[in-house]
Amino acid sequence: MGIAGISGGRLRIDLRAIAANYRLIAERVAPAAVGAVVKANAYGLGAAEVARTLYEAGCQLFFVAHLGEALALRPILPAACRLVVLNGLPPGAEALCAGAAITPVLNSPDQAYRWAEAARHSGGRLPAALQIDSGMGRLGMAATELAALAADAQFRAAIDPVMIMSHLACADTPDHPANTAQLACFRTAAAQLPGVPRALANSGGAFLPADFHADVVRTGIALYGGAPNQSGPNPMQPVVGLEARVIQIRTIAAGGAVGYGHSHHCERESRIATIGVGYADGLPRSLGNRGAAWYAGERLPIVGRVSMDSITLDVTGLPSGRIEAGDWVELIGPHQSLDRLADDAGTISYEMLTSLGARYERTYDPATPCHREQAA
Ligand SMILES: *Cc1c(COP(=O)(O)O)cnc(C)c1O
Repeated sequence: MGIAGISGGRLRIDLRAIAANYRLIAERVAPAAVGAVVKANAYGLGAAEVARTLYEAGCQLFFVAHLGEALALRPILPAACRLVVLNGLPPGAEALCAGAAITPVLNSPDQAYRWAEAARHSGGRLPAALQIDSGMGRLGMAATELAALAADAQFRAAIDPVMIMSHLACADTPDHPANTAQLACFRTAAAQLPGVPRALANSGGAFLPADFHADVVRTGIALYGGAPNQSGPNPMQPVVGLEARVIQIRTIAAGGAVGYGHSHHCERESRIATIGVGYADGLPRSLGNRGAAWYAGERLPIVGRVSMDSITLDVTGLPSGRIEAGDWVELIGPHQSLDRLADDAGTISYEMLTSLGARYERTYDPATPCHREQAA
C-alpha cells in the first residue's frame, strides 16, 4: 500500500474529521445518543479504522448490514460496544449471532421467534432491536405484528428489547410530508413497548426537528462528510480527499477525437491529460464528457468516455508546461466536494463512496493504532 507512485490515485481519509462530525451530530441531537452506521466497510472508507476512531470519540453503538460485517468488527471493538445487524437475523445463524454477542434487528415475526428460541437454548435472555415499517416499505414488521410479540409472554421472557427502530424514506427532504407521517406511525407502534429506547433518524433525520431524534440516532453519510440533506450548505466537515496522477499529456490537433467511441472531438488544438483512474476505481462512466478534475485552481473538464483505468481531461486552459505527467489532480477536495462529483455523475455521495474500491493508495490521518496493527 504505502509505496508512492504504484497506483493511479490516492485517497486520503481524515479520521479527525470523522470524529468531529460525530461530535457535531452528538451535540445537535443530545440528549439522544448517536450510533454509527459502518456497513459496507464504513461506506468504503475502512470499517476497522472508522469504528476505532468513533469508539475513541465516544461512540458505543455500531450498525452494520450483515452478520458477517458484525463478526469482522467484533474483535476490533470493546465488549461494551453494541453491534447491531440491520438486515436482520439470517435463518440458521442464531447460534453464531448469539455466541458473538451481536444484536440482530428483528424485522419479522419469524426472525423474532427464532431469536427467542435461541435465547431459550442459551438459557438466558438475548438482546434485540425490533424494527417496524413506518412507511419505508422495505424492512420491518407491521404494527400489528409488533403488538402480537408485545403480548407474547414467552417472547417477552426470552428477549431483551434494547431498541425499537424504524427508517425514514425522505429524511433528506426536510419538508416532505412522509416524514411527519412516519413519525406518527412510529410513535403509535413504539408505544406498545414502553421504556424501550426508540431510534428513527438517519443522517437526514438528525437535521430534522428534535421530535425525530427520539432516543438514538443512526448516522452514516454525515459522519463521512456527505451532505445530510438537500437544503442549504453542508454542515459536515469533508472527510475524503481523492487525487489522480497524470500519466501522459498529448496534443491533439483540431478535429481530432478522444477516447472510446470518439465521443469527444477537439474543436481547436487541445492538450489532453490522461489520469490513471477509471470506472474500475469507482468513477462512473456517467462522468464521461460531464465531470471535471481540478488543478492549480483551474477546472479541467473530463472529455471523452471514462475508461476502466483512465480518464482524459482537457488541460488546454492551463499555460503550456504548467501541468505535467506525474502531477496530481483533485477529484474530491477543496475545489470539488464529494456531493458535487456525485451530482456530476448523476448519483449520490453514498454510491460514490461505496464504489471507490481497493486500487487507491490509501492514507489515514492520523494513522490510528488500529490501522498500524493492521499494516504490521
Ligand atoms: C444505512 C442506514 C442508515 C444510515 O443512513 P445515512 O443516511 O447514511 O445516515 C440508518 N438506518 C438504516 C436502517 C440504514 O439502513
